[in-house]
Amino acid sequence: MPFLPYQPGWIEVITGPMFSGKSEELIRRVKRVLIAGQKVRVFKPRLDDRYDASDVVSHDGERVRAEPVADSAELRSRLEGEKPQVVAVDEAQFFDDGLPGLLEELASQGIRVIVAGLDQDFRGEPFGIMPTLLAKAEFVEKLSAVCVRCGRAATRTQRLVNGKPARYDEPVILVGASEAYEPRCRACHEVPR
Ligand code: ZN
Repeated sequence: MPFLPYQPGWIEVITGPMFSGKSEELIRRVKRVLIAGQKVRVFKPRLDDRYDASDVVSHDGERVRAEPVADSAELRSRLEGEKPQVVAVDEAQFFDDGLPGLLEELASQGIRVIVAGLDQDFRGEPFGIMPTLLAKAEFVEKLSAVCVRCGRAATRTQRLVNGKPARYDEPVILVGASEAYEPRCRACHEVPR
């Protein structure tokens, strides 16, 4: 990984299904950056506040909080007049089309960009801007989880609505329904049409 003599500035993507440890891997990388005394900014989409309690990365009193932003335009404005050595973005699949171009600009300015996000949605389809980021990245790490059905490597996220596999065209927001997600392998992943 990026310890080779390499032109400063690149994009590295951490991807895989839910429960594969993407955020943990992002935090691990950010911690090592802090140990090296580098300046880092961490961002996440504002819609996601699941990790609010645990998204503070600290080392020797140095604390970094993931800053929630509404979209790539807000992320851009937060970095105005600043040039950290590292920019990290978690839950990147929820960002708009402007993110890949912005991250490419940052990388071209010599910034190390670390991105984590789901590669597939619950249907197993490529998720939003992630395919573009995966194509543009210098380095990609694809993590897997453990299939809750068979124990094989889980590469997909199973969505359950009221305990049943969500249909392909199931709306993303379901008022009053109980929803759950679990990691499954290709063979055990179910998406009824
Ligand atoms: Zn399985």
